[in-house]
Amino acid sequence: MKVSSPQGIVPLDNILPEEPLLMMGAGPVPIPARVAHANSIVINHLGDTLARVIEQVKAMSHYVFQTESQHILGVAGPGSAAMEMAIVNLVTLGDTVLSICNGFFSGRLAEMAERNEAKVVRHQVPDRESADVEVVKALLDQHRPRVLTIVQGETSNTVFNRDLPEICRLAASMDCLVIVDAVCTLSTMPLEMDAWGIDAIITGGQKGLSSIPGVSLVAFSDRAWEVITAPDRELRHWCLDATLADLFWYKKSYHYTAPVSGILAIHEALRLICNETLPGRFQRHLRHSQALQNAIEAMGLELYVPPDARLNSVVGIVVPGAIDSADVLRHMSRRYRVEISGSFGPPIVRIGQMGEQSRAHNLFRTVHALGSSMKAHGGSVDLPAGVAALEKTLETFAFGPSE
Ligand SMILES: *Cc1c(COP(=O)(O)O)cnc(C)c1O
Repeated sequence: MKVSSPQGIVPLDNILPEEPLLMMGAGPVPIPARVAHANSIVINHLGDTLARVIEQVKAMSHYVFQTESQHILGVAGPGSAAMEMAIVNLVTLGDTVLSICNGFFSGRLAEMAERNEAKVVRHQVPDRESADVEVVKALLDQHRPRVLTIVQGETSNTVFNRDLPEICRLAASMDCLVIVDAVCTLSTMPLEMDAWGIDAIITGGQKGLSSIPGVSLVAFSDRAWEVITAPDRELRHWCLDATLADLFWYKKSYHYTAPVSGILAIHEALRLICNETLPGRFQRHLRHSQALQNAIEAMGLELYVPPDARLNSVVGIVVPGAIDSADVLRHMSRRYRVEISGSFGPPIVRIGQMGEQSRAHNLFRTVHALGSSMKAHGGSVDLPAGVAALEKTLETFAFGPSE
């Protein structure tokens, strides 16, 4: 043997922190104990047990995606694999695609369409703004695209496309397929696939759903399925071919070895969502995100996006010029064992409010860790005022009629 066994390898326990860090960034997010337990099990990928699990995953997905579609597919891969699955199955060579780009992830959909040799019209939405319905309408009229891509919540700069329902309706009325990236938003805020006329919804495991990374779901509409099953269709992809995935997800047959543990994990994540109910879960996320936002402002810090375009699932906080955000993140992590995210561009740090992140005890710890670490690195923040605002909002948050 020419290559010898490596020296100095230590067990994982020597590498991982003794107490796990609290993951309060832009994903992955903490997972409930039941999800973690499910993820530790391996079963036969073609047996009756997994078949029953798959039936339940699809049934629960109908509720979570708000759709009656019989084309709900899982993919062994990150949210990006689900994005690519939607793009490669719906965008054919030479198609015109209108990509509404708010930031990094919506831009990735455009890039994927370009790699698929579509004619991509990128509409760059001004930073810190929602996509404007009138502008999108004009672009639809001008370019008559086959497909429109858009993100519900842009995790990278914490912008929310609040007029998504109207944009979807407009596109559908012009016979344009709509692909919506809901990786960070699904189950944290309303999204209605059928009622809004969406043709593909993409989600990942590790954000809104509070499952593990690496297993993702895509839901296709009947209209999308007609395109996918058109007789003259040619696809260069094999793993991402929706008609092959359909063999496994609807015909109890073999495509590739399904990520069984991850599917069990997502089953538990979906079951917890169904138990909580969507209205209850939306209220929880709204209340906790609002409390976090109030706390940040009461500390004397600024939120990156104005209220009318602000995402609740991921909150962007402006880092005052004199402070190095990398120092603050390191301090939070080392001293308080809390991880939040930096950014891909704007001068912000980001705190997630997705799934298990959206709990009062996690917020108190995070707000304290952020405020205290900013102070330690020269920031002037009023930490007690922040904690008081957090407490007050959580206590007095007015629930809507659904609660
Ligand atoms: C995280 C994220 C993705 C990509 O998910 P990966 O699992 O990292 O591939 C796509 N879209 C949005 C909105 C996201 O937040």
